[in-house]
Amino acid sequence: MNYADIKRIDVANGPGVRVSLFVSGCTHHCKGCFNEEAWDFQYGKPFTETEIGLIIEYLNKDYIKGLTILGGEPFEYANQKGILPLLRRVRKELPEKSIWCFSGYLFDQQILGEMYEKWEETREMISYLDVIVDGKFEEERKNLGVRFRGSDNQRIILVQESIEQGEVVLWDEA
Ligand code: SF4
Repeated sequence: MNYADIKRIDVANGPGVRVSLFVSGCTHHCKGCFNEEAWDFQYGKPFTETEIGLIIEYLNKDYIKGLTILGGEPFEYANQKGILPLLRRVRKELPEKSIWCFSGYLFDQQILGEMYEKWEETREMISYLDVIVDGKFEEERKNLGVRFRGSDNQRIILVQESIEQGEVVLWDEA
């Protein structure tokens, strides 16, 4: 897997101060995408043990609330394989940090309904995530007033609660 960027300080993609990883590769090609160069799976640099170590170091500060993974598309199959070694380490070494992930795939229909059945990587990845912000960016539904999202079709979903309850449970900032 390649990645486009790692931000040590990000306050735009989830609650609190976070570390963000922007992975490369996305097949959705949403009209009006903010990050077209990252559609290419070869864009950026290889994501290696060195980057994983750096992210762990950046996360390991009291003022950092958690990790956000976005792109590109983290749930492309090749990217799931690339992200898992990072998720394993974060969950083992820094279990108190929250993990958010942005995806253009729909959580209930495509991630749980299709990938979860097919791929063990999806099942493992899902087991580590606290929140998925799902849905493609829809230019005609662009809304600067919705927090952490580009368009108001996108949902902020509590992953473990949704699985336990068997229905989509939305994140509520309160
Ligand atoms: S899912 Fe995100 S990165 Fe991919 S095309 Fe849509 S807006 Fe761009």
